[in-house]
Amino acid sequence: MAKQSMLKFVTVDKAMPEKRPPDLRKEDFQEIYRDYAREKAAQQAGRCSQCGVPYCQSHCPLHNNIPDWLRLTAEGRLEEAYDLSQATNSFPEICGRICPQDRLCEGNCVIEQSGHGTVTIGSVEKHITDTAFEMGWVKPIRPLMERSESVGIIGAGPGGLAAADFLRRQGVQVTVYDRYDRAGGLMTYGIPGFKLEKPVVMQRVEQLQQGGVTFVLNCAVGEDMSFADIRAEHDFVVIATGVYKSRALQAPGVGAKGLVRAIDYLTVSNRKSFGDDVPQFDSGELNAEGKRVVVIGGGDTAMDCVRTAVRQGATSVKCLYRRDRANMPGSQREVANAEEEGVEFVWLSAPKGFRGDSIEGVMVQKMRLGQPDATGRQSPEIIEGADYVEDADLVIMALGFEPEDLPALWDTPELEVTRWGTVKADFRTHETALDGVYAVGDIVRGASLVVWAIRDGREAAEAILTKLSAPVSVAAE
Ligand code: FAD
Ligand code: SF4
Ligand code: SF4
Repeated sequence: MAKQSMLKFVTVDKAMPEKRPPDLRKEDFQEIYRDYAREKAAQQAGRCSQCGVPYCQSHCPLHNNIPDWLRLTAEGRLEEAYDLSQATNSFPEICGRICPQDRLCEGNCVIEQSGHGTVTIGSVEKHITDTAFEMGWVKPIRPLMERSESVGIIGAGPGGLAAADFLRRQGVQVTVYDRYDRAGGLMTYGIPGFKLEKPVVMQRVEQLQQGGVTFVLNCAVGEDMSFADIRAEHDFVVIATGVYKSRALQAPGVGAKGLVRAIDYLTVSNRKSFGDDVPQFDSGELNAEGKRVVVIGGGDTAMDCVRTAVRQGATSVKCLYRRDRANMPGSQREVANAEEEGVEFVWLSAPKGFRGDSIEGVMVQKMRLGQPDATGRQSPEIIEGADYVEDADLVIMALGFEPEDLPALWDTPELEVTRWGTVKADFRTHETALDGVYAVGDIVRGASLVVWAIRDGREAAEAILTKLSAPVSVAAE
């Protein structure tokens, strides 16, 4: 049976789910890919050659059992495929949508390496869990027994929520604290709906709530409640606060009105997607409609900003980046999506300053790529005499994020941090220098990926469960 359904990569071509045409998708914040029909998912899953040593699995940060859930999908056994997929991953439908698969599972698929086009692992993963939600197979957690021990988790992003999920599965009492009014972290207020629609995140939050996880929202630890109080309240604490301090640029004119931070711009736009009343958007301050928009940066946050500006009705959208296309950190797939939607990339260009009290333009200096630096990347060098002004009414700075100073904010100097300000934690157990306190996700790694935050959350939960001598549900790697 298995053999008949699999190994179809020679006869069946790789096919992604249908992508909505740019003119249509520019009009809304809905995801750009449609779902596979069930037969199509089975057909695509059947392209897998069931490798004895599956490189896809070893390059997935969660070490998901990919070949087995592909086989089950090809055989039409989707409920079993879901059970297997959720055993290692708290949010398979989210990873299926937003993991950079070309750098992780799919980029290492042997079919891809042999020139046949990768098995579309992410799209199948999304299909399995979307179907599971539709069919009512995704149930609230019902632990076999309740335990008396409690864990306080600070931060309701993917790292904190994954830890909550795996701890609750074993009956641990879990409370998640977050300073925002909604859970989900950057999945809710950072990543735009055209990559990850908001109901997809909210249905998971509801599932956790129904499974007994307590959420304390609008609670900024360090302001509304002290870190010491949280430690006193719980047997263990997990820090999962992410990184939110925007990297700043020192240049003439940086105080100009209309020069804004990417995180503020995206948060406001995501709030509008929820239908919230957002004065900063309604006043036009953080709304690109009718404006010439320039986004500075070459990472995925910059890609999300340019594509958001297109959807808000900007008259033009340009992205300035100081290196070239081949040397940008953002995903090539997202650049292609942005270009299809009408974004212009101005490579080898860096801001030198800004014109106007209300922004009128960016003073741009042109660059060329010089010698490789210590990391092997070519360093940009200024081309003298090639400066020009790029007109703009709204400039969005997407230069990356740094951690907040947690030891100072939380009056806890004993919490050890690295020289970059990220929290020091054991790379396997995620224990920090403080007894019973763990740390996961971006606050440890620096700005990273959802899938790595989930992995950290899962491992911290495993480490806590081991201390409690409770069963650990995920197979150890
Ligand atoms: P976060 O998701 O940042 O969650 C941290 C939570 O902690 C937040 O809800 C915050 O409110 C809360 N918090 C912080 N401080 C406190 C406090 N003192 N008290 C209470 N609560 C607090 N990754 C991908 O894999 N794919 C993508 O396509 C992708 N796109 C991205 C696009 C953008 C614009 C950005 C900014 C990031 C993107 N990422 C993407 C990265 C990904 O979102 C992060 O790596 C991931 O969300 C980190 O998870 P986390 O749980 O560590 O932190
Ligand atoms: Fe691929 Fe991410 Fe899914 Fe792992 S979690 S299989 S890397 S899409
Ligand atoms: Fe299947 Fe590709 Fe993974 Fe091999 S590497 S098991 S072909 S998905």
